[in-house]
Amino acid sequence: MFPIRESIEQLQARIKAKLVELVRADEEVTLVAVTKTQPVDVIEVALQHGISHIGENKVQEALRKIPLLKTPYQGFHFIGHLQSNKINNLLSLKPLLIQSVDSFYIAQKLNSALGRKNLVQDILVQVNTTSEASKSGVSLNNAIPMIGQISRLNNINIKGLMTIGLMSSDPELTRPFFKKLKELFERVKELAMEGVEMKYLSMGMSDDYLVAVEEGANMVRIGSVIFGPRVYPEGA
Ligand SMILES: *Cc1c(COP(=O)(O)O)cnc(C)c1O
Repeated sequence: MFPIRESIEQLQARIKAKLVELVRADEEVTLVAVTKTQPVDVIEVALQHGISHIGENKVQEALRKIPLLKTPYQGFHFIGHLQSNKINNLLSLKPLLIQSVDSFYIAQKLNSALGRKNLVQDILVQVNTTSEASKSGVSLNNAIPMIGQISRLNNINIKGLMTIGLMSSDPELTRPFFKKLKELFERVKELAMEGVEMKYLSMGMSDDYLVAVEEGANMVRIGSVIFGPRVYPEGA
């Protein structure tokens, strides 16, 4: 089995050392362990060794696994593309944070479902900083108008921004995109819109989390560094 406990300890130590190096030792970086494709018993090992936030990207998979977890933890983050017909199922899992709201359309659907259940939900707005067609997310240019629109929905609180870097083994190629998201984060903060708090800047995955932290991330989403390479079930 992959050495999950050692991987988590090493990862936490690397993030801490990076914050010290950046003279940001007083800051905290929330580590979200991305548990997609990992079975429940493997997730339990992580929860027993320092992980308190987990991220899943498919509602069906989360529905199958999240209710089976026994070790207490802070919360479940939804990090995948959200479809309107999956919203009720997702809300039944009480996500701590939906990180991947990428259109006003889906925000409206989410807001209506929340209203019917009398719930208020924290979300992040996903921004497609790299402008790759294969990726979800609002464009950098449209982000502020969309945040303005979503901010007027009563059952949704915007808590920050999320992005996915380039699929490249060289994290330096992604650095300029992380810089752009940080700039947007600061600009939105200055606008001080009602219902909008720029608290979380979620960027950085296994290959680029140190660069993301250097560029101001305070939330990273990490899978393979913790669990080893993902094995997708056949036919998936
Ligand atoms: C899979 C995934 C991650 C984690 O990927 P790793 O490279 O394994 O760390 C992070 N964020 C999102 C949105 C993902 O889908």
